[in-house]
Amino acid sequence: MALLLDRHGWLAPSPGVARLPSPNHDARPAGTQVSLLVLHNISLPPGRFGGPEVAGLFLNTLDYGSHPWLERLRGLRVSAHFFIRRDGGLAQFVSTDARAWHAGVSRHAGRERCNDFSLGIELEGTDTLPYTDAQYAALRRLVPVLRARYPLSAARGHEHIAPGRKTDPGPAFDWKRFGRDCGFLRRQLPPV
Ligand SMILES: [Zn+2]
Repeated sequence: MALLLDRHGWLAPSPGVARLPSPNHDARPAGTQVSLLVLHNISLPPGRFGGPEVAGLFLNTLDYGSHPWLERLRGLRVSAHFFIRRDGGLAQFVSTDARAWHAGVSRHAGRERCNDFSLGIELEGTDTLPYTDAQYAALRRLVPVLRARYPLSAARGHEHIAPGRKTDPGPAFDWKRFGRDCGFLRRQLPPV
């Protein structure tokens, strides 16, 4: 079933698409064009998949005491527009029209604060474990829908817009495959 983005920037409910509105967002600066797609990975604790922790982090409902590693996240206020699980399941946390808090201190093509002008997609994973076919398939469904709404002229990893600080989505992500699937030209992808 094709994905539909409603006029408020939310995917229409359908099987495998969850809408989990996060309070961690605000308005983009007036008149800002959304032109960049940023890909990330996340798993909490790192390397553990399938649990409720990532959604909990983005919704400020994470049980920080449930694992020692999670303590360091206490007080963090973050989000992404989308989260794609290992099985391809999609969750949306922030309207695409709003500013999600995924990039932090960042720069792309000389512009700082990439959250202002980007969409953020989190892939459940780690930097080194290959992403699943279901995740690439979900990107292939989702990204063209986003590109039909926003003039996305480039796709980058968090590692490219915050080098030295971030390493995701890491060497495990196949940018060539992603570019082919989602119609990004080589010059629109991270330089190799
Ligand atoms: Zn990231």
